[in-house]
Amino acid sequence: DTTHGRILYLEDVCVSFDGFRAINKLSLDIAPGELRCIIGPNGAGKTTMMDIITGKTRPDTGSVFFGSTIDLLRYKEAEIAQLGIGRKFQKPTVFEQLTVYENLELALKTDKGVHASIFFQPDSEQSDRLAEVLRTIHLAESVNRLAGTLSHGQKQWLEIGMLLMQDPKLLLLDEPVAGMTDEETARTAELFLSLKGQHSLMVVEHDMSFIKTISEKVTVLHEGSVLAEGTLEQVQSDERVIEVYLGR
Ligand code: ADP
Repeated sequence: DTTHGRILYLEDVCVSFDGFRAINKLSLDIAPGELRCIIGPNGAGKTTMMDIITGKTRPDTGSVFFGSTIDLLRYKEAEIAQLGIGRKFQKPTVFEQLTVYENLELALKTDKGVHASIFFQPDSEQSDRLAEVLRTIHLAESVNRLAGTLSHGQKQWLEIGMLLMQDPKLLLLDEPVAGMTDEETARTAELFLSLKGQHSLMVVEHDMSFIKTISEKVTVLHEGSVLAEGTLEQVQSDERVIEVYLGR
């Protein structure tokens, strides 16, 4: 079993849009419980890669495996979410007219397929989970506030909390600290470090000081494939990476 010890595995993935190779023989793997940062200049293929993992975009060739046995190319986008891959886009999308608690509760309901039933009552296991997620996302004190009154950073945490209600194995996050204050960024680092281990995280980010605090391993994408991989220090001192970023 060559995929042992990997939660996610991409091999030789290619995607073209109208003849343009956006993803070019991309191979990458993520270990269980790992927190991986993905960097790369605009147009490197970061978004397309996430779209492939979540089933939004189909590769032309190559393989994409979740764990050692699940061939993701056999599943539809909605099924992939059910398999335990959560994705967060850059902008927060929470229900502004609902409280923090209600937002999290709604994430539970949709998980069970009991869409927004007013008769829904979480069982004790679900209530425990809700309380735990509230603490994890630093919103235990704000449980009854309307989501619309939260700060930008708090909305981002709430949306991460909504994903956590579904207990995903892998979380994909697109520029999670963009627009956050320094304090919110620091608390987000704390949050990610607390998730690591139980969940695998793949984080696309431009904020290098944030990356430095959270990640052991960084992957640099360029022209649809992996240009370099290693610690932030290693990739930042890599000649090819410097060339791509500075255009030398
Ligand atoms: P990144 O997220 O790293 O900025 P993207 O994955 O968004 O990069 O884009 C990679 C390349 O593929 C870019 O050159 C982009 O213009 C192109 N691309 C992405 N999606 C499409 C699409 N649906 N149609 C045509 N070209 C696309």
